[in-house]
Amino acid sequence: MKKSTARTLAALLAAAFLFACACVPEREKRTATFFDYFDTVITLVSYSDKAAFDEAAAAAEEIFSSLNKLFDIYHEYDNVVNLAAVNRMAGERTEVDPAIAELVSAGKEYFELTRGAVNIAMGAVLRLWHDARINAEEDPEHASLPDEAALAEAAKHCSIDDVIVEGNTVLLRDPEMSLDVGAIAKGYAADRVAEKLGEMGVSFMLNCGGAVLTNGKKPGGEDWIAGIADPAAAGEGFAAKVAVDSAALSTSGSYLRSFTVDGKTYGHIIDPATLRPAEGTASVSVLCVGISAMTADALSTACFVLGAGIGGELIEGVEGASALFVLPSGEKIASGGFPER
Ligand code: AMP
Ligand code: MG
Repeated sequence: MKKSTARTLAALLAAAFLFACACVPEREKRTATFFDYFDTVITLVSYSDKAAFDEAAAAAEEIFSSLNKLFDIYHEYDNVVNLAAVNRMAGERTEVDPAIAELVSAGKEYFELTRGAVNIAMGAVLRLWHDARINAEEDPEHASLPDEAALAEAAKHCSIDDVIVEGNTVLLRDPEMSLDVGAIAKGYAADRVAEKLGEMGVSFMLNCGGAVLTNGKKPGGEDWIAGIADPAAAGEGFAAKVAVDSAALSTSGSYLRSFTVDGKTYGHIIDPATLRPAEGTASVSVLCVGISAMTADALSTACFVLGAGIGGELIEGVEGASALFVLPSGEKIASGGFPER
């Protein structure tokens, strides 16, 4: 080959290589954050190329948006029969979207699994605590606790046996009762989104307000690592880190939503036995391998209510589940071989 021909070929090959490089999609870390759903922050992280990531993020947002409307207990929307409507129609059988029927049925099962610690039929009681917290946020000077007599009255209308799901209908047999699915809805939504992104062939880590799910690995075959926030550090620093390998991790913590009355802080997770915020734990993270994020979500709320002792026993009895309890002192208690790194 003549020198000049070789030089031309080399130049052409170099150009072709550059062109090929330009055509290989960049696999940089991409993040989408959603602020408008489930009253929480949702993040999706993936190393896909831009077009694939944008498509995945749009698909995720569509699912979050639609489930957020269906599971909203505070607002109704045009042309949607959601849980706020089901609650308003208590006493009458209501035709619902299959997602609502599925979520409510699961809620009934979680009542059994968690020995009543998670009760989605406790809407009447939870509403009083929710209103007290919102009032406290709006007017901290006049923050007050729910009225004891009102709590006792509300507690008469929280029987899970009065929640009847048949096909795609829900009947709240007690007209005074209402549903609150806050303990499991984020996990359900995370599962639905993960299912869709899995079908699209995307590797990702999704964090839906504390319900974390992953699919596949990071580039180079590394596991996705989720940080468990240090409950004492107001959003900074980690109590632990854990590899979430095609598994779900759910964290419940009183530091996430609380209010203060006379110098005492009250969390948003209510113990059905006392009708007051559960105390004794700062946060609980439950890792579920081969189980849904919804189950992890239910178990983390249950463990927060039950505490490290009984909650730990509950976790030991669920195959694939393990938990890390962080106590208010900062002490950490792991159950079921929680794989803290
Ligand atoms: P999570 O963040 O998953 O632990 O769920 C907390 C949310 O679940 C609260 O904001 C309430 O809406 C609801 N909730 C609180 N306590 C309970 C309980 N004992 N059973 C069922 N739902 C609860
Ligand atoms: Mg939960």
